[in-house]
Amino acid sequence: MQLVCLDLEGVLVPEIWIEFSQRTGIPELRRTTRDEPDYDKLMKYRLDILAQHKLGLPDIQKVIAAMGPMPGAKDFLDDLRQRFQVIILSDTFYEFAMPLMRQLNMPTLFCHKLEADASGILVNYHLRMPDQKREAVKRFRELNFKTIAAGDSYNDTAMLSEAHAGILFHPPENVIREFPQFPVTMNYAELDAEIRKASEKL
Ligand SMILES: [Mg+2]
Repeated sequence: MQLVCLDLEGVLVPEIWIEFSQRTGIPELRRTTRDEPDYDKLMKYRLDILAQHKLGLPDIQKVIAAMGPMPGAKDFLDDLRQRFQVIILSDTFYEFAMPLMRQLNMPTLFCHKLEADASGILVNYHLRMPDQKREAVKRFRELNFKTIAAGDSYNDTAMLSEAHAGILFHPPENVIREFPQFPVTMNYAELDAEIRKASEKL
């Protein structure tokens, strides 16, 4: 029994915060964990900026819906789901991802949650658990699934290592260099071919 686990941002949809910052013209939202390694500080900062700009959840969701998935993502995923059970493991939030999930035919998504007040302003965030991508793959293994996982960045490498087969998709140079054990794919045709190859070997 084989499962495919995919990262979301950078694999099927754009990096949400970065794209959001461009579309709204709020450069402060480009800040990432590279600039502020304390994730809690970074998230509170982001929520403050959104509140300062009076951007509530409905406004935010409208911007995210307009981003759309990456070109070709829906066809790739539709086809993959014909052959495998597919679970998307992401560190984003349901409230952000939903407008994009609808455009991807609502695949299964495991991620985190945001909290809004009555007026729609985001007041807090809730991580379901730390290191959830890796923990999920671990649990799938215990359930006797063989897992093929694909992701694009540093925060995916623990999940890729935990899986029976890990694949990099369009990763930055430093990740390619540091993790030579994972095959590198640059587009959906290559990723699909690599998933087929891994699947035959499992
Ligand atoms: Mg990613």
